[in-house]
Amino acid sequence: MFKYIFGPVQSRRFGLSLGIDLSPDTKSCNFDCLYCELKSSTVTTKIKNPPLVEEIIKEVKIALKKYPDIDVITITSNGEPTLYPHLNSLICKLEEVKKQKKVLILSNSSNIYDKSVQKSLSRLDIVKLSLDCATQKCFKKIDRPVEGIDIKKIIGGLKEFRKVFKNELVIEILIVKGINDTKSEMTALKKALVDIKPDRIDLGTIDRPPAFDVKGVGFQKLKELREYLGSFNVSIVYKKEAEKKVDFSKLQILSTIRRRPQSNMDIEYLFSDKSKKNLQELLLEKKIIKKDVAGVLFYTLTQSEDKEILSK
Ligand code: SF4
Repeated sequence: MFKYIFGPVQSRRFGLSLGIDLSPDTKSCNFDCLYCELKSSTVTTKIKNPPLVEEIIKEVKIALKKYPDIDVITITSNGEPTLYPHLNSLICKLEEVKKQKKVLILSNSSNIYDKSVQKSLSRLDIVKLSLDCATQKCFKKIDRPVEGIDIKKIIGGLKEFRKVFKNELVIEILIVKGINDTKSEMTALKKALVDIKPDRIDLGTIDRPPAFDVKGVGFQKLKELREYLGSFNVSIVYKKEAEKKVDFSKLQILSTIRRRPQSNMDIEYLFSDKSKKNLQELLLEKKIIKKDVAGVLFYTLTQSEDKEILSK
């Protein structure tokens, strides 16, 4: 029985993942997000009884023998993992034992402006950072941070971090109905994202009832909001099936992909069997290719096809 390790869990976003919980005793978070699924507790900047690195690594070694097929080791927490005081030492030790596995962290971005946090996270294979809003008003409303955390500081930190982090950076945006589901919030986010240059953006919404009385938005709304984000690799994360699958011709698929790469989740949610068959044919014809971005497959045009479509 493990104390700090959980899973493996199959995640559509990162593959088969073995989790490390850095705050097993109680929720320790410097945010109190409206959409949080964890038991509500007072915001804090410290993890109570932080585990020893040696104890965590001992469990990781056993778990890796037991589950040799996992894709990633995920550093997470019953709260915010960058509050863990021995994060750098943990990441260094994980490098020694992880073998071929990737190491990922899921953070709320609150400490990303801290140079020592940037230095520690820059050693990881994948970093997933949250950014729900780019304006202070919206940020305070949704993420409800401890006093003194400013969204401008976070965005500045994200831009700095991108300069030192050479591996896969994923930004997660979670949409709450009536708060950040607007054109103006998306436009402000896009402006910040242009400099942050994430490899992938996960655009999701509330799918399980959180502690507060807030609601998520539907798949169509997420699609509409994605339009405001431009041509990034945006993966819509939506648990429910789309109500109606759509038949796309090959040409329609090519012109959609030209505007924005489509993720395997887009295909799953929206493509009818006929559309999927057309997609497979386009792959065989080498008009499109698949690329893995931090565990999610995106379909993009081959360079020659891009030129051909442009000339039509
Ligand atoms: S940052 Fe994560 S753990 Fe903290 S309150 Fe928000 S959703 Fe919950």
